[in-house]
Amino acid sequence: MSDEEAEEEYLFKIVIIGDSAVGKSNLLSRYSRNEFNAHSKATIGVEFQTQSVEIHGKEVKAQIWDTAGQERFRAVTSAYYRGAFGALLVYDISRRATFDNVARWLDEINSHSDTTVARMLVGNKCDLEDSREVGLEEGKRLAESEGLFFIETSALDSTNVETAFEMVIREIYNNVS
Ligand code: GDP
Ligand code: MG
Repeated sequence: MSDEEAEEEYLFKIVIIGDSAVGKSNLLSRYSRNEFNAHSKATIGVEFQTQSVEIHGKEVKAQIWDTAGQERFRAVTSAYYRGAFGALLVYDISRRATFDNVARWLDEINSHSDTTVARMLVGNKCDLEDSREVGLEEGKRLAESEGLFFIETSALDSTNVETAFEMVIREIYNNVS
């Protein structure tokens, strides 16, 4: 391997989108800092977190963007999507309305992106089995019909959080390398 190859850098922008209060900020804080906040307010200040993953001996960095609560006003700007190679589209399995809105978020990503964006549908709060309103199979079916990856997660108990982000990062790596 030449020196140039060894020093090759990978930095991918990934965006998290979906309705308000589905758990976007907590998925990111769980993944990047192993933190969960039961009373999280709309994100203030922090635009993104950077995480490193090793793939085939290479350091791959993901710059993961969180909305600052703009999704409440349907005012996520094109700057937010610009340059993204991956997206996590999150709904809350205990609130059907957030699943019904997945189609519009998907339209948003598709209309703002010109490259191959690795897209994953994420059914968050799978710890809330007792108040589930969206079945696992429904999520799978939608993902399959739209060509998305699919996973259910819990930012609360950590289920599949790392897997969700790392699947997207690996897919992006596969797309570009
Ligand atoms: P955002 O608006 O999409 O960024 O959502 P937040 O991350 O701010 O979370 C909204 C609310 O849902 C907060 O009260 C969180 O504590 C809660 N929450 C987030 N993820 C989970 C989860 O996986 N399980 C449960 N039970 N609650 C969650
Ligand atoms: Mg948030």
